[in-house]
Amino acid sequence: MKNFPMFLRMDGRRVVICGGGIEAARKLRLILKTEADITIAARDLDPEMEGIVASGRAHHQPVATPCTFIGAGLVFIATGDEAEENRIAGMARAAGAVVNVVDRPDMCDAVTPSIVDRDPVVVAIGTEGAAPVLGRRIKTEVETMLSPRLGGFAALAGRLRDSVAARVKPADRRSFWEWAFSGPAYQAHVDGREHAAAEMLKSAISAGSAPKAKGHIALVGAGPGARDLLTLRAVQRLQQADVVYYDRLVDPEVLELARRDCDRVFVGKEVGAHSWPQDKIDRIIVASAQQGLRVVRLKSGDPSVFGRATEELQAARAAGIEVEIVPGITAASAAAASISAPLTVRGETDTLILSTGTTRPDDEAPDHRTLARPGTTMAFYMAVERAARVQADLLAAGTPADCPVDIVAHASTAREQHVETTLANLADAVTCNDIHSPAILFVRYPKHLAPTRALPVSA
Ligand code: SAH
Repeated sequence: MKNFPMFLRMDGRRVVICGGGIEAARKLRLILKTEADITIAARDLDPEMEGIVASGRAHHQPVATPCTFIGAGLVFIATGDEAEENRIAGMARAAGAVVNVVDRPDMCDAVTPSIVDRDPVVVAIGTEGAAPVLGRRIKTEVETMLSPRLGGFAALAGRLRDSVAARVKPADRRSFWEWAFSGPAYQAHVDGREHAAAEMLKSAISAGSAPKAKGHIALVGAGPGARDLLTLRAVQRLQQADVVYYDRLVDPEVLELARRDCDRVFVGKEVGAHSWPQDKIDRIIVASAQQGLRVVRLKSGDPSVFGRATEELQAARAAGIEVEIVPGITAASAAAASISAPLTVRGETDTLILSTGTTRPDDEAPDHRTLARPGTTMAFYMAVERAARVQADLLAAGTPADCPVDIVAHASTAREQHVETTLANLADAVTCNDIHSPAILFVRYPKHLAPTRALPVSA
């Protein structure tokens, strides 16, 4: 570690910014977030800096002299003139200031990190100049992970610290704060209900301890596989979860987003083994929530699309447990995006059908003939093994054999496979290209293709 990270107290500290252009303005903007005593040394100022000087928030002097740096803790230099920058840096160092010369790492005593600002929570990321672009990428990731309202909540907690110290016994304080930062008060604040959040904290403080945890179940869409296709809300629920029950199609990368101390329970089907029966899953998620745990039931794609969400919703409601669905990107959307083929095309396909090749063992097989209408994009889930049946049904119902078909397996993952064919060759294409589940079969029946026989009358 060549650079040591520290947070400097800035109230009243003198900061000098030398330069009046865009780069200097950028540094000024950062320092303005603090309570530093700011002086700008530059003959000409950019309009933004002029405005700040006019408002009285910063002092201005046209030329930097040795006196400028007396008592200065930090000096930023961005004049764009190397010789002048060297001279100013010499004066600043002689006065004992820490110097940063913009875009000249060799001239810097200190560098400014990439910053994620949720004041008073601040995350600073540095790469010692080795990979600034990586630093910015990490910043973006952290930005998406931290609620924009986090700072407001941390500030509220800060204001309540003394009352907590007075009312909550030392032995209970840690669990109080754990509850405060991950429980319903935090959630309420993040959702924009700031008043409710403050009330919850205050009533817990009056009671002298965090209320007994209430269980909660979130049916969370994990998306098609790629970890960056999760919603921010899904990531949030994963990070709050005490236990995650996940399926076979959920990518390990996605599971990594859960807290390290969160239990992860696989409830899917391994090759050759049996999956957990649905009622067993229903029972176990409810039992976990009844112990006061925050349960995430992580399902591939969108929980509402062939995801057996109804059973789990009913089980939770029957037990009086709070339950919610966090939507995800369904496989059809992900597959369409991967192959750059939108699901609907104006003037060609104005109906989108999500259908399945497989139903419960005792149910009647789905009848695909009723779907065969011009102007329709059909996306078949769980249909790899039933491709011949889908094909035969659609052809029998008059769907033209030359309708374009896309088969997309493992969409959005490194194993993605895409085969283009026509309805006439659908089943063969699945076999010849060795396509296995999970895959989506798209059949596009545009308006301009005439049916090969009279359309069946819908029921
Ligand atoms: N709830 C899920 C669907 C679960 S049913 C969703 O909204 O996507 C399982 C089926 O989803 C698989 O048989 C396959 O048809 C489809 N599927 C899931 N992940 C997929 C992926 N990455 N690529 C293609 N199809 C996928």
